[in-house]
Amino acid sequence: MALDEVLSVARKENRTVLTEVEAKNVVLEAGIPVVDTHQAVTKKEAVDIAEALGFPVVVKVASSDFLHKSDIGGVKVNLNSGSEVQTAWDEIMGAAKKANPKASIQGVSVQKMAPQGIEVIIGGTKDPQFGPVLMFGLGGVFVEVLKDVSFRVVPLTRRDARQMIEDIKGFPVLEGYRTQGPADLSALEDAILNTSRLMEQHPEIKELDLNPVFAYSKGILAVDARIILEDR
Ligand code: ADP
Ligand code: MG
Repeated sequence: MALDEVLSVARKENRTVLTEVEAKNVVLEAGIPVVDTHQAVTKKEAVDIAEALGFPVVVKVASSDFLHKSDIGGVKVNLNSGSEVQTAWDEIMGAAKKANPKASIQGVSVQKMAPQGIEVIIGGTKDPQFGPVLMFGLGGVFVEVLKDVSFRVVPLTRRDARQMIEDIKGFPVLEGYRTQGPADLSALEDAILNTSRLMEQHPEIKELDLNPVFAYSKGILAVDARIILEDR
């Protein structure tokens, strides 16, 4: 689905928060590899999608009222059968209603369980002075606790993208250590450049978050995506 199409649907429904599936479609179209993800509106649909994708799968709450899905128990990973998907649906709906009884829930997203990689995050925001700015860091504790991130102003060159990766203190993790091989740095550069281009060409994007992206020895895969649009 083209960004313009996603935008017009969101606008028609008066939303500034794209669903995970919408955001992933936009990101995929920008040239960034994304884990295959589909929206399910019913429990049966969730099972059907999971069976079509092949196990294991991940199921996540789909609701613009929960931007941090796992915080409320809205993410179930490594599901290996239709009945596990059914249980995940019930648990997610229960957790979501408990967290916010008034939340509007569109269903769930169902996606392939991606092999574990090194978790990185790529973010885009708007600075009142500099305009669109990109952020890069290692995922999890590195960004949340250590704030080990680097920033560059859009548009970036490939050299900027590379420097952005090398600037973080955790860079040695990406270069490989002990039994863990090096991450595919040129695939990460590509993802940063494509994100830069997306922010540059689409000023209607207020905020973009790929958190996490799994980096492998060959290639990368975004497993979560969030896009927030400017108010009109
Ligand atoms: P949140 O809204 O809490 O950020 P995420 O979609 O990022 O939810 O999921 C939480 C965590 O679950 C991720 O950080 C990642 O470690 C894991 N995860 C999410 N999606 C997948 C997937 N498709 N394959 C493997 N692991 C995943
Ligand atoms: Mg996330």
